[in-house]
Amino acid sequence: MELSKYSIGVGDRFAHQGVAQLRAIMKANQSGLEISPVWNKSNREHMYVHTHPADVRREADTAVATLGYKGKYFVDADHINLSTVAPFTETADFFTLDVASFIGKPSSEADMETFIDSCEKYIGELSIPGIEKPLHVTKELLKSIASKFLAATQQASEIYKYLVENKGAGNFITEVSMDEVESPQTPVDMLFILKMLADKGVPAQTIAPKFTGRFNKGVDYRGDLDQFALEFEEDVLVIDFAVKEFGLPKELKLSVHSGSDKFSIYPIMADIIKKYDKGLHLKTAGTTWLEEVIGLSVAGGEALELAKKIYANSYNRKDELCAPYADVIDIDETLLPSVEEVNSWTSEKYANTLRHIPEHPDYNSNFRQLIHVAYKVAAEMGDTYTSMLEKYSEIIGNCVEENIYERHLKRLFSL
Ligand SMILES: [Zn+2]
Repeated sequence: MELSKYSIGVGDRFAHQGVAQLRAIMKANQSGLEISPVWNKSNREHMYVHTHPADVRREADTAVATLGYKGKYFVDADHINLSTVAPFTETADFFTLDVASFIGKPSSEADMETFIDSCEKYIGELSIPGIEKPLHVTKELLKSIASKFLAATQQASEIYKYLVENKGAGNFITEVSMDEVESPQTPVDMLFILKMLADKGVPAQTIAPKFTGRFNKGVDYRGDLDQFALEFEEDVLVIDFAVKEFGLPKELKLSVHSGSDKFSIYPIMADIIKKYDKGLHLKTAGTTWLEEVIGLSVAGGEALELAKKIYANSYNRKDELCAPYADVIDIDETLLPSVEEVNSWTSEKYANTLRHIPEHPDYNSNFRQLIHVAYKVAAEMGDTYTSMLEKYSEIIGNCVEENIYERHLKRLFSL
């Protein structure tokens, strides 16, 4: 099973927007591109929303049948590990092996030595085609990379083996993710991580490193854009080298776990993948849930009331809701509107405050980030929430489609 060159991960917390998301992708594909949708959902999301991996498969299949979509599509067991993979095994065909928590765990002396010895030929000045300065590889550097990543890649190979036993080799896509950590992996880290994966027989088709800068939930990238561009370009070149040198799958590409809406790095990535004619996988998740709330506010009346109730509950429980996401949000509480204030808002004011158009005078990134992490509030409303999604599905679906097409795909693929 092979992923196509371009793919986009579309998260959908409440599993109601599959058709709208696919409409956006099909619209982009009309320009001759072949972007494959990948419906991704993590174990954590399933737990909060009380959904099952089979629901995502059903949603994807239904969307594809409804629109008569003929291209490839996938269902991603996002951020799974050995203890959470089992319920996803049957219905997913894309597995994101999250081994971040194994970074820095010890490996045996013998394993360390075997790895370092196998890298003998790279010690010295290592030229990677396209990268101006050769990489300076020393034994000490290899030791430090192995002590950080050998156990993590070993873990990836164990999850991969489990999947081969339970699904059969070749029947699923393998992604390896290390993005949910504090310190970014450098291109030289990436090179040797890929060697470890190749040595262990993990045929990764996508790799998700932690990039430099902040990837806060639902808002734009914060960091040095030039530094990001340099790192992203070097990663692309390192992957190209690693594919040839270590015999990894030729379609191996970067996966960017965006935390949604990293608009300022989209054109940078677009330029680089175009320059080298490379593929890309981009995961988005909460951006669709936010469009649901925007759609409800636009619908007005009882739907606007519900959107206000979601904010009130989010505001009153902000500490609890923000805690699991503390590392990936930056909310200035003094800039959050009061519940009374929001209760007085019109449809327009609510939607403009939440919608991700940073130059709009009403846009408030603090408000947006809080709602982003507050999908648990809507999940607890159960039918009250989902019945409104159904009742106002046209307005909401239009918001979802417009968001994915206009703000994401157009920027990412220079449409
Ligand atoms: Zn991630």
